[in-house]
Amino acid sequence: MSIEGKVIAITGASSGIGEAAARLLAARGAKVLVGARRTDRLEKLVAGIKAEGGEARFRAVDVTSRDDVEAFIDFAKAEFGPVDVLVNNAGVMPLAPMAALKVDEWDRMIDVNIRGVLNGIAAVLPDMKARGSGQIINVASVGAHIVVPTGAVYCATKYAVWAISDGLRQESPELRVTTISPGVVATELGNDISDAGAKGVLSELRKAALTPDAIARAIAYAVEQPDDVDVNEVIVRPTASPL
Ligand code: NDP
Repeated sequence: MSIEGKVIAITGASSGIGEAAARLLAARGAKVLVGARRTDRLEKLVAGIKAEGGEARFRAVDVTSRDDVEAFIDFAKAEFGPVDVLVNNAGVMPLAPMAALKVDEWDRMIDVNIRGVLNGIAAVLPDMKARGSGQIINVASVGAHIVVPTGAVYCATKYAVWAISDGLRQESPELRVTTISPGVVATELGNDISDAGAKGVLSELRKAALTPDAIARAIAYAVEQPDDVDVNEVIVRPTASPL
């Protein structure tokens, strides 16, 4: 029942939930590889973890590129050995009503939130199957369970993450597959919303928000279980949130 010594790769770790998870898991003794596009942030994160006595590396990764994600996982293997846990956390949420026809943003959500998760799974699955063990943690959302106006496409991507996780779980008796579904968390998610009305929706939702460490603890809980215990899903909402 341990996190100590596990090799854990985390995407989307340059801010928010991924960053908090990296800090917590490294503090619990994991060897952590963090990835995202903003390497200046990753560099600072790794320096901070090392200063606390933890083990961490960073590598630039754009999860929409299959080659990039493969190189990210290869880097983890080269630095630390086979990946025990992959946290598919990178995500974007440019909310907007469908009638605004922000079709480029629809594509971006599909590419990062769905294709990114699939790229991560493809990069670790053969090795994990061959080794007969491993854990894939996909960060979905309460938006994998409910749909809200301005969130149709975002929620669709998270419903997809939920479905992919559960299908993978059913097909993979040797692997642990976990979906983490956060409610509202105060992070940089949604900073790229270009629709004025949707910005208002988000700031209304953020009136009751968790801090990212609450989700990091849920991730750690799923990792620290014994090998024969697969926490399939954790939904973590702010107590005061109606959603
Ligand atoms: P942040 O915006 O703080 O973090 C998102 C991370 O994803 C960043 O590190 C960003 O890094 C990374 N990212 C975005 N696009 C790419 C890409 N193409 N390739 C690699 N990395 C990318 O938001 P959160 O921490 O809140 O989000 C983390 C996850 O949690 C997401 O999947 C989100 O959908 C989910 N979630 C968040 C909730 C919330 O209320 N905050 C609620 C429910 C779910 P960079 O830009 O440097 O590449």
